Amino acid sequence: MADTFDAVVVGAGFGGIGAAIALKRLGLKKLAILEREDDLGGTWHVNRYPGLAVDIASVTYSYSFEPNPNWSRLFAPGAELKKYADHVADKYDLRRHMSFGAVVEGARWDEATGHWVVSVEGKPDITAKYLLTATGFLSQPHRPDISGIDDFAGKVIHTTAWDDTYDLAGTKTAVIGTGATAVQLVPEIAARAAELTVYQRTPIWVVPKVDVPIPSVVQKLFARVPFTQRVARSVSSGILEMIMVSAVLHYKQVKLLNKGAAAASRAFLRSQVRDAALRKQLTPDYDFGCKRPTFSNSYFRTFTKKNVNLETAPIDHVTADGIVTADGRKTEIDTLVLATGFNLWDVNFPAVEIVGREGRNLGQWWRENRFQAYEGVSVPHFPNFLTLASPYAYSGLSYFTTIETQMAHITRLFGALESRGADTFEVTEAANAEFLDRMTENLADSVFYGGSCQTSRSYYFNQHGEAAILRPTSTRNAFVEANRFPLSHYTISASR
Ligand code: NAP
Repeated sequence: MADTFDAVVVGAGFGGIGAAIALKRLGLKKLAILEREDDLGGTWHVNRYPGLAVDIASVTYSYSFEPNPNWSRLFAPGAELKKYADHVADKYDLRRHMSFGAVVEGARWDEATGHWVVSVEGKPDITAKYLLTATGFLSQPHRPDISGIDDFAGKVIHTTAWDDTYDLAGTKTAVIGTGATAVQLVPEIAARAAELTVYQRTPIWVVPKVDVPIPSVVQKLFARVPFTQRVARSVSSGILEMIMVSAVLHYKQVKLLNKGAAAASRAFLRSQVRDAALRKQLTPDYDFGCKRPTFSNSYFRTFTKKNVNLETAPIDHVTADGIVTADGRKTEIDTLVLATGFNLWDVNFPAVEIVGREGRNLGQWWRENRFQAYEGVSVPHFPNFLTLASPYAYSGLSYFTTIETQMAHITRLFGALESRGADTFEVTEAANAEFLDRMTENLADSVFYGGSCQTSRSYYFNQHGEAAILRPTSTRNAFVEANRFPLSHYTISASR
């Protein structure tokens, strides 16, 4: 690997791919995209569990500048997302910038040279003028700390490391977890395993998934008349904004919308499960949106199958051949599936150690102060650094909205550097503080603070009790600000 780069991008998922496209469009040539996995695609390379699919319509869950007319369904299966990532990386000639198996250990700002020094496991340090981390929000798997789990003698699979060679047919399987991953996976396992026990600590809101195959005639229309796909994208994004964004972020103003979504989920549950006791177990006692709501037509119904058991007693410990609940009951199993999600707040913000000006350590600073990033991308004391998986970055509940908003921010900021003959930027303390205050104020309207979220155990909340992931503004506001933020919010200078 060559020594000094214009920019290092950490992560070759959709976020890193988007950032690299923006940088290339700006004329940066010497790019290094460092990826710890053995291929590109991020989430969609790592996750391969049965039932994996998007739960935001594919016309929205894709780059607006790179529409894919070939989605097979309204909600594409996971493998199509990986294929799409490959296509975009090839089309924008990004593969030659990528290094796989490149585990970034950390990066520090070198004030003397005005460069970032990036350390990569087992390799010499590399330096770069700019550093962008696109390490994803859900990329550090959470393995539960349950007593005895390491003594289990059967097969253990975390959903982020699915073993395609393992045959679930005839197994006695347990799934721990009932988040969005389990909602997709549980019906698939139920169809194969002899016995399935699902350990639920917190129930989840599930609404129907209006999913249909996209007929070839529509695919052809999307390919020949791209405008039609843009219209489909607008409609799907509008629905998403209304249900997922307004009902969650504007809970105070449109409580009825939020309550309506919960009522729709309860009605859906009634239509799928006749047993009132089972329905009660599956019904959340927190407000819709405290935790990310999920979409499935088969999840609730699966619990009515003879070979499926919902276990709501807390897990006490795991033995070599089973799981024992706090009431002393043991369920014998041979396969343990951990659908236990991700660790965000302890290890993911940031995912690698970042040390900025005057030795400021980003992770330590975030933890000792508050999690914060101006417009979800930049932090004072960290020159020439953009952190794309950041507090208040997640906009509009579609990761692609977030990415494209960030691409717009990159374009405006680097455009200003270019036009001023400068090469160094740093967000001002004042701009950062104003942004954090505004996000905090806006959050007061959200379900997180206005609703009842105490029992949700939602990863939206950090260790300080702040819901600091979602950007509490409309998607439009995020995009407008990315395109028009005052350049005075940054100090922009030339290093020589
Ligand atoms: P998650 O939502 O964090 O769910 C993890 C589950 O594991 C929760 O039910 C949690 O229970 C349970 N759990 C964790 N530790 C436990 C323990 N020690 N004992 C018992 N239960 C334990 O993770 P996820 O389902 O992987 O989903 C994460 C996010 O990924 C989603 O919110 C979504 O944004 C994304 N996702 C998207 C898609 C899609 O678009 N297609 C699919 C899957 C995931 P508690 O709730 O009680 O903590």
